[in-house]
Amino acid sequence: MGRLEAIEGDTAKYVAIQSVSGSERELAGTVFNDLRAIGHNKVEMIDGNNVALLIPGVNRNRLLILNSHLDTIPFKGKKRDLYKLRKVDDWLVGAGAGDNKVGIAMEMDIARKYKPGASLPPCDIMLTFSELEEVGGFGSLKVAAWLEDQHSARYDEVGGIILEPTYNEKGEFFGIGHRGATPVTVTATGPTGHAGKDYGYDLPALTRVARFMGDLPRLQVEWQKKYAHDLLDLPTANPTILRAGGNMTNQVPATAEGVFDLRTTPAMNTAWPIIKTKLEDKYGVTLKEAWPPNHGLCDPDSLIYQVINDRWSDELGAFPYGCDMNAFAEHSTPTVIYGPGYLPDIHTTGDRVSRTAIVEAGRNIDYIIREYPIFKRQSGSSVAPISVQ
Ligand SMILES: [Zn+2]
Repeated sequence: MGRLEAIEGDTAKYVAIQSVSGSERELAGTVFNDLRAIGHNKVEMIDGNNVALLIPGVNRNRLLILNSHLDTIPFKGKKRDLYKLRKVDDWLVGAGAGDNKVGIAMEMDIARKYKPGASLPPCDIMLTFSELEEVGGFGSLKVAAWLEDQHSARYDEVGGIILEPTYNEKGEFFGIGHRGATPVTVTATGPTGHAGKDYGYDLPALTRVARFMGDLPRLQVEWQKKYAHDLLDLPTANPTILRAGGNMTNQVPATAEGVFDLRTTPAMNTAWPIIKTKLEDKYGVTLKEAWPPNHGLCDPDSLIYQVINDRWSDELGAFPYGCDMNAFAEHSTPTVIYGPGYLPDIHTTGDRVSRTAIVEAGRNIDYIIREYPIFKRQSGSSVAPISVQ
């Protein structure tokens, strides 16, 4: 069987295993067993449902990490149809096919290429598969912390590729950053009682939250003016959930709650604690982010950035959504985002990947694995990234 057919087969197999965030156990077990079946006997489970495999290479001073996430968002529809990979012309279509099941399949391809007894990879390669990406990157935070604690110190260079979908109508791009992302909960308390009473300016909880949400478009404009970033582009803030009151139309509820999705740039992350306090005072609400909104940005001085920039300088761009890059960045591991999935259709039931992209990504990953161990690192180069997306 050729490499493409094997990757197709694995993608179909992993799509068929439902792995909504929080329910990754079965898929993690399958990936673990599949790596063992190839002959790798040092596969590890890291703190939950995260799988890791170190493949020792020729140059043991450099470590290249390939990371994919195991989980998907929940999909709505007939399960039988959603989780069966469909072939439509050049496309493979199915729930989570591009985001991120094909990423797992690409890693399995590398595991086969460098199976024990075959040729060694040109440097150490770490294959990682992480849980809970779609709900905050908690799996990768554990993997990246483990990597930093147990492995990184042994190497002169550590860098990686996050195999998220980076193909679109225009072809491919290499993601060298993404905005910070976190859901922020807005809560308020206020006077409660009969809805026929006069509350004056003692604003009910629901009014406070509604006023805040109503002002979000204006706040967003303000933030976009102040905190735009050349590569990562503009901060955004969009309401996603509003909860208040029961079924009583004549009762003012004592509490109200809403959630908005916040996307930040580095400058806005720095300013966020102050912005937050000011907003809380002004609107009489409490703001609580699910986790700190950390952006990802690949350091231009890092080896992985330079390898990519050397060959694809005109294809560097920002990844429009959050991903595991920031988790690795927080643990001193620079990464780029690159994988064959088709970005415009992720998180839809038409999630897909083209065979052409799989072949091309396979070739490009081979190239990176070849170049990374021998690339002459230039310090202080700081090539300014150009956004093409
Ligand atoms: Zn993803």
